[in-house]
Amino acid sequence: MRGRTVWVGTSWKMTKTLGEARAWVDTVVTGLTASARAAAPAGVQPFVLPAHTALASVRDLLGPASPLLLGAQNAHQGPEGAGTGEVSMRMVADAGAELVELGHSERRASFGETDATVALKVRAALDAGLRPLVCVGEPGPVRDAGEEIGFVAAQVAAALAPVRPEERGRVLLAYEPVWAIGEHGRRPETAEVAPVLAEVARLGGGGSDGERPLVLYGGSVDQGNAAALLEDPSTDGLFVGRAAWEPEGFLGLLAIAASVASAARP
Ligand code: PEP
Repeated sequence: MRGRTVWVGTSWKMTKTLGEARAWVDTVVTGLTASARAAAPAGVQPFVLPAHTALASVRDLLGPASPLLLGAQNAHQGPEGAGTGEVSMRMVADAGAELVELGHSERRASFGETDATVALKVRAALDAGLRPLVCVGEPGPVRDAGEEIGFVAAQVAAALAPVRPEERGRVLLAYEPVWAIGEHGRRPETAEVAPVLAEVARLGGGGSDGERPLVLYGGSVDQGNAAALLEDPSTDGLFVGRAAWEPEGFLGLLAIAASVASAARP
């Protein structure tokens, strides 16, 4: 890890009814209360990205003093109005989101989102007062061809193009190699992803007054590899899917992050 705080978050993707969302929040809040008086473990910033349908409910369940940041998994780049089936940045902010995930590889593959779309969304998110969490990552064949650094660098450059230097610290970049994510993903070795994380971190530099995006790693993270992945010196935290969908899994990852954070403290 490179910062003082380890970020650990999960996207629920297309899972969880309102009842299932409530059960997850109840267990996580109870677990945090038992371990740390309802606060996040020291040195850890947790976050959760429910589906849009559960956003406002999770906000209400967590309450105003929640240690978990809340975010949306996507929002439209355009103004409100003619966008059937979509939600705007302002609408997700109104429902409680402080973060908004953009450019996940599933959206790039299934909904035709391009680097240009992602750039528009980054600008719209910042204008709405949201922190964009932009996913980047190469498909397997690009990795096989040894072209992952150039591929990801282009995605990062496109995502940061609309960001003013003084806004860079509001951005999170999640490196999520496509070959590593989801149920068919392959668990990565830290050494495999480290050079790309270093490049993402390098490209994020250059903001004003040291403002820089946070860099997260995502893709087949679980309690078995989280500590090793957090050893990477370019990484500020982890972005997790399946391994955090059960609340006990999320709590386990927070505990690992807390011990990494405390070992790193002077
Ligand atoms: C993801 O799809 O963004 C992700 C991190 O998934 P998983 O952890 O389940 O591989």
